[in-house]
Amino acid sequence: MRVHSATQPGTPGRPNEDFAATAVPAGGVGGALVLLDGVTAPAGDFGCRHGVAWFAAGLGGALLELAASRRHVPLAGCLDLAISRTADGHGTTCDLSHPRTPQATVVCSRWDDDTVEYLVLSDSALLLRAPDGAVRAVLDPRLDELRPAARRLPMERRAGFLEGLRNAEGGFFTAAADPAVAALAVTGSAPRAAVRSLAAVTDGLGRWVETFRLGGWPELFTLLTDEGPAAAIARVRAAEAADPDGVAFPRGKASDDATAIVVEL
Ligand SMILES: [Zn+2]
Repeated sequence: MRVHSATQPGTPGRPNEDFAATAVPAGGVGGALVLLDGVTAPAGDFGCRHGVAWFAAGLGGALLELAASRRHVPLAGCLDLAISRTADGHGTTCDLSHPRTPQATVVCSRWDDDTVEYLVLSDSALLLRAPDGAVRAVLDPRLDELRPAARRLPMERRAGFLEGLRNAEGGFFTAAADPAVAALAVTGSAPRAAVRSLAAVTDGLGRWVETFRLGGWPELFTLLTDEGPAAAIARVRAAEAADPDGVAFPRGKASDDATAIVVEL
């Protein structure tokens, strides 16, 4: 097994709120990966004295440890426990009922000789490449499905519209302080023999496909394996630099934290 990863903050000098880690279980076979994209908090009070990067590191570390050590617990159960554990870490000092309490998108995968399990919540992506080269993207479509309705609104109301649907019925879901969200993640499994390699990317890198349309998910996978995760991030940064004001390619942030993990099984 070989693992490659790279990350870069969207703005130099600002905290990188992505989290990426992999595990090879001691005494076992296979491994696990976790990739989180911490949701940047709004200016002002958001109920937590620790911050989004602290939250992402705590949740990501807990999820990796649980996925690797409790192999009989489904990944959604591991996420449920990891959210609870992280909430317990600051429930007495912070207001976890605040709607913008720290939160993150989640990708998790775990594999052994027989099976590859996966979990995706919100808009980071997991890509599975088969031995014949076919690439399947595992995506949580909820946020993308809301964007057409948002685009029909005046520009100034779009952000508020989507914000109102964050962790709300009929909206989209991120891992925050409520463990019940784990049951809403996209989950599944594939035979190990059908997966040659995996890639997990945060949306700061996924915009190579979804915003700049430089290729599809299979082409991004090829870029990640042929040139490496750091080169893929550099391609995104070049595309952002060519359209700094988002005129040709409208996007929420000019550039975003970008992270990739590639695992060749
Ligand atoms: Zn806190």
